[in-house]
Amino acid sequence: MAPVPENWQRGVVIVAHPDDIEYGCAAAVARWTAQGKDVRYVLATSGEAGIEGMAPAECGPLREEEQRCSAACVGVSEVEFLGLPDGRLEYGVELRRALAGAIRRHRPEVVVTLNHHPIAGGGHLNSADHRAAGQAALDAIADAANEWIFPDLPEPRWTGVRTALVNVMSGWTHAVDVRDTVDVAVASLAEHKEYLSALSEVPVAEQAAAQVERATGPKGEFDRAVGFELYSF
Ligand SMILES: [Zn+2]
Repeated sequence: MAPVPENWQRGVVIVAHPDDIEYGCAAAVARWTAQGKDVRYVLATSGEAGIEGMAPAECGPLREEEQRCSAACVGVSEVEFLGLPDGRLEYGVELRRALAGAIRRHRPEVVVTLNHHPIAGGGHLNSADHRAAGQAALDAIADAANEWIFPDLPEPRWTGVRTALVNVMSGWTHAVDVRDTVDVAVASLAEHKEYLSALSEVPVAEQAAAQVERATGPKGEFDRAVGFELYSF
């Protein structure tokens, strides 16, 4: 199993919802920030449609705050919410424009995103938002680099992205060794207290530990690892 290259300094993780990063990927983020890398989060939505019985106007700010706490756990202080509608992300030019703008603002060498494939793992259908956000994040890398695509964006083009990493639960080609960061990843997911409490009566700490355990199983020679597909630019 090839290790994910770590010869870079700035990365941006682009996802649809608060909590998406914390189901495994945050263990890799914690490793990278411990190495001194600058990692930032960009969330297309505030997850405002994510809690049954809680109106979006109340839910969105709560979930943003939970996401900021989760990010802080793994050494990420810069978290940007793009304010797009939770549950109704559409793959297309508008989403690519929003994500290209984010890439131009943050100027990363590495873009990390989540599984955009139709199957989420375990035979589950991947959500429409995840499919749209993941695919658009990958496509927005080239959009961000071309001055003639989205010339109306205020940010100058950014041609510095060399690698995209897609966090997947199966079919990975590369892995990040997370044996030292599993605990902090569990703490990071457990910051989504209200969200996880609404999902299940199992205590939040137990839910978080089980989810991170599932996402950080052995891969190749690594006892605990997070799996990625790697794309070069
Ligand atoms: Zn999600």
